[in-house]
Amino acid sequence: MGAPRDWASLARLPARDLRGLQDAALARFVREELYPFSAHYRRVFDEAGVRPESVTSVAALQRLPFTTKQDLLRAQSTPETRYDFVLRPSPDLIRAHWPFLRKLALVLGGARAREAVRFQYTPNFLTFTTGRSSEPVGFAYTPFDLQVLQQGIARMFDIAGLDPARDRIVNLFPFAPHLAFWAVTLGGFETGALVVPSGGGKVMGTDGSLRLFERLNPTVVVGTPGFTYHVLRRGNELGTSFANVRTVILGAEKVPPGLKDKMVEALRKGGAGEVRIVGTYGFTEARMAWAECPNAENRSSGYHLHPDLGVFEVIDPKSGAVVPDGEDGELVYTGILGHGTCVLRYRTGDLCVGGLSWRPCPSCGRTLPRIGAELRRVSEQHSLSLTKIKGTLVDLSVMGSVLAAMRDVEEWQVVISKVGDDPLELDQLEVRVAARAGVDARELSERISHDLANATEVAPNKVHVLPLHEMLEHLGMESAMKEKRFLDRRPKS
Ligand SMILES: [Zn+2]
Repeated sequence: MGAPRDWASLARLPARDLRGLQDAALARFVREELYPFSAHYRRVFDEAGVRPESVTSVAALQRLPFTTKQDLLRAQSTPETRYDFVLRPSPDLIRAHWPFLRKLALVLGGARAREAVRFQYTPNFLTFTTGRSSEPVGFAYTPFDLQVLQQGIARMFDIAGLDPARDRIVNLFPFAPHLAFWAVTLGGFETGALVVPSGGGKVMGTDGSLRLFERLNPTVVVGTPGFTYHVLRRGNELGTSFANVRTVILGAEKVPPGLKDKMVEALRKGGAGEVRIVGTYGFTEARMAWAECPNAENRSSGYHLHPDLGVFEVIDPKSGAVVPDGEDGELVYTGILGHGTCVLRYRTGDLCVGGLSWRPCPSCGRTLPRIGAELRRVSEQHSLSLTKIKGTLVDLSVMGSVLAAMRDVEEWQVVISKVGDDPLELDQLEVRVAARAGVDARELSERISHDLANATEVAPNKVHVLPLHEMLEHLGMESAMKEKRFLDRRPKS
């Protein structure tokens, strides 16, 4: 992947230099990789009348259309287009598009150089999206891309304040062909840090994961917010020691407000001292993840980006126009170093509060660009997040935030159904919760109804306060890959 750049100095270059590096990397990527070798983007550029050589800066991307999840689904639906997003070089395409010196190196390098090109461009790994509403989309990695991911995650470990020589890391992410599990695993391989996976609730289970804590005395715990909190709470029940834990890294799902505090409380109960809780953001389509840096109050510093590996634009989700730095908008991603499956201007559907910032981080002083850590789903693209209940449009993610933020709610689930499961009947909204020990169930359910009605204008038909073990069953904490927070049991029309 070219000369490895010194990360420590890159992370503190002046913003102007970082933007310059980013523009140059983008221009080279479009000219020598994406346009020549991606059938999809060759068509997109030609149809838009944009010459690849004319994309010399991030601003120039605005002349190109967005890529959506539908584009990816459509491409993988027929055998003829299945590899349209995958870079596939051929001798003819290389001859037509690579600059003279790069071709010369290939010619002088002979069979070995040709073999290296084949190796670096041939996919040897895939991860899949985990969308609830559509077919999973596979993203291909080549050996080159695995190196890029490894380095990116090594940087993430650095931003999260890990010490690979000393830290012992338990990886609670579900063992699956998903980005999160493999990112942490590869980060360990790259840095030499001890990373031990439990496989999550479905593989070793909660108690099995906690036995790993006893053997390893981990200093770092990595996992999804929901399952990690569940493991810590169960650890309190079993008397597991968390004395050595100093960092918790959360990923794969957004961190609900209030959860960091609940986690600190559970860790303290297990004997932990000062604990830093760090959120991360990543998605399959970027084949990358980014982290917050830790600080004493566990306040978010925003996700620190890798400006030499990818570009984030922030757009108005309605007009598609790029908004100024610091303004809310939908995140749009373009990878600028990669082979395998590559996307340009990919609409994430994630609405970022505070948008993009190029100001040095107030916590760690790094000059890397950052995006705000408060993310919501953009409604238009994601039908499940915005659902009509009883005729009112309800943002389920808001509903989830309200429930997760309540101190007296241990676990929660929202169930939407039709009265009597009759498709012609009215919608019915039920909330299931497990209450914190010692909390009055009746008072809690009234408070939940009231708070939800305030936040979403829809009050639940019923709030069920259930024992914790029953809630864990409903959520599939030990049996599903991902806990089931929202169940829509209405028949599909
Ligand atoms: Zn920072």
